[in-house]
Amino acid sequence: MAKRDYYEILGIDKSASQAEIKKAYRKQAIKYHPDKNPDNAEAEAKFKEAAEAYEVLSDENKKARYDQFGHQAFEGAGGFGGGGMNMDDIFSQFGDIFGGAFGGGGFSGFGGGFGGGQRRVKGSNLRVRLKLTLEEIANGVEKKIKVKRKVQAPGTTYKTCTTCNGTGQVTRVTNTILGRMQTSAPCNTCGGAGQIIDKKPNDADAQGLIIKEETIPVNIPAGVVDGMQLKVSGKGNEAPGNGVSGDLLVAIEELEHENLQREGDNLHYDLYVSLPDAILGTSKEIDTVTGKVRIKIEAGVQSGKILRLRGKGIPSINGYGKGDLLVHVNVWTPKTLSKSQKEFFESMREDDHFTPKPERGDKSFFEKVKDMFS
Ligand SMILES: [Zn+2]
Repeated sequence: MAKRDYYEILGIDKSASQAEIKKAYRKQAIKYHPDKNPDNAEAEAKFKEAAEAYEVLSDENKKARYDQFGHQAFEGAGGFGGGGMNMDDIFSQFGDIFGGAFGGGGFSGFGGGFGGGQRRVKGSNLRVRLKLTLEEIANGVEKKIKVKRKVQAPGTTYKTCTTCNGTGQVTRVTNTILGRMQTSAPCNTCGGAGQIIDKKPNDADAQGLIIKEETIPVNIPAGVVDGMQLKVSGKGNEAPGNGVSGDLLVAIEELEHENLQREGDNLHYDLYVSLPDAILGTSKEIDTVTGKVRIKIEAGVQSGKILRLRGKGIPSINGYGKGDLLVHVNVWTPKTLSKSQKEFFESMREDDHFTPKPERGDKSFFEKVKDMFS
């Protein structure tokens, strides 16, 4: 499906000011907010779409790039992949759009309970990078990740917000050219949560949180890809009161392997064989992600031949099958020879056995691929 124009999504034109962009986004965000549209996939998609549009248009740099290049400005690394923004990021980045105090500098309240217009505040997400070897990626691994996360300080207590009497909402009456208008908005004192901090330990921050170092075990499934982000639900920063903890987002970084190159689920290995080995045949030990294996090199092997070790690649992240290991044969030609060796090869120049006679199978990449295990 083609991506919609960001201005069209927010219902504004290109000359809109930042204040107008924010106002337009707020309108869309409230209309399609998941609390108002539970289990409504279409509303969720619209909510995400609006957040993505706002993410770009609210940033003068990104807006300028978008105005010049359109959606192409954000394709590839750092762009919005097929899924667009995720809900957690929207709330942690743009949560303040729903109320004055939440998420901004003036935070003084937090989410308590549901209903009555109250929201549950979500703690922010934590992001870490995790370096993995190809072997770990191929086999799956449990990693213990050390994080410093905000947790509720022991001894913190809460009380009902007196500004809104615990409802989380305040009603404002304003005079406009259309007459008196009554609007309901989240309470600024408590950020719409209905509760504020009563007592907290001295070492806690304004939200009653302290930083704690924790070790979090994370199961990495086999087949992850460099740049992929895994989510450990609830292991980000805690929220005050009975808010919801953020998530721990683990970005996968694949370490380079000494001898194996990954291409999707397949692996490639460059094998060098000596001229006598290529002529006479031999066996060679090569690396795989599950240890070394010995493979047979037939007499008369050609440089450029590809031997396929079926299923010796990386398991598919979806759980369907495994890639292969492709061994590329390179015949090593010596650059220097002894006098007698030189004489020997001189005498072979005119020998019919050394005259190239390429067969069809020696020519194309696909025809060169040989099944070792079939
Ligand atoms: Zn309040």
